[in-house]
Amino acid sequence: MRRDDTSTDTERKLDGVQDDLLRVENVSKWYGDEQVLREVSFEMEKGDVTVLIGPSGSGKSTMLRCVNRLTDAQEGDIYLDGELVTASDMDVNRLRREVGMVFQDINLFAHLTALGNVALGPQRVLDLDKQTARDRARRQLEQVGLAPQVDSYPAELSGGQKQRVGIARALAMEPKLMLFDEPTSALDPELVGEVLEVMHDLVEEGMTMLVVTHEMSFARSVADEIVFLDGGAVVERGPPEQLFEHPERDRTAQFLSRIT
Ligand code: ADP
Ligand code: MG
Repeated sequence: MRRDDTSTDTERKLDGVQDDLLRVENVSKWYGDEQVLREVSFEMEKGDVTVLIGPSGSGKSTMLRCVNRLTDAQEGDIYLDGELVTASDMDVNRLRREVGMVFQDINLFAHLTALGNVALGPQRVLDLDKQTARDRARRQLEQVGLAPQVDSYPAELSGGQKQRVGIARALAMEPKLMLFDEPTSALDPELVGEVLEVMHDLVEEGMTMLVVTHEMSFARSVADEIVFLDGGAVVERGPPEQLFEHPERDRTAQFLSRIT
């Protein structure tokens, strides 16, 4: 989402720093001797959709995991809404309430219904009373098109439905930022569309989303910016039209020609 143009350049620059919802600055990470992120930088404004693409092993998941501190980078800074999340005294539990994450593998509690799964966080973590948490969960499930399935158990749901419960569960915490790590990669092809549709709705509502996906037509239609990672480094970033139609780097063109 771009800022309006009534401010002066200086104001805009100052704004820019304060308005970034997510700011990743020169993040480097090693696993033992292997460097998996190399001075990665990018930033997102509120409402932006950024899609991370790149070959397997290029560091996409690691980058996402650094944002909610599921893993730690050794170098660089990450700011969420102006707050230094990489600070050693950051409250990571609060951070994870503010950053929702949806993974490839759907890990719902088998003994809870869809409603129970979605209500759990608001009740246990946000400390809402049971009825308020369940009302909120019901609304979130309706939003992802699962009104008829609120009382179903995970075993009774398709992969696409389970993944939508996972999205509703993350949204029920009212996060500032949503991270998606290949949310459709484990699904049968016929179930991919319903999950992308829900993500599409979220984009329309103005949710700020950092998405790892190989669904290039989805990326092209929703992304404000594509960031191409290879070998842990940002090779190229830009709006989808530029990156897909006129990549500046050979490596970007090669990668895109292999997967599209
Ligand atoms: P991507 O999501 O782009 O496929 P990853 O972020 O999962 O890439 O992995 C980047 C690199 O880091 C890979 O070489 C992978 O083997 C390595 N890696 C990821 N997680 C770990 C871990 N927990 N321990 C050691 N190496 C890891
Ligand atoms: Mg990955």
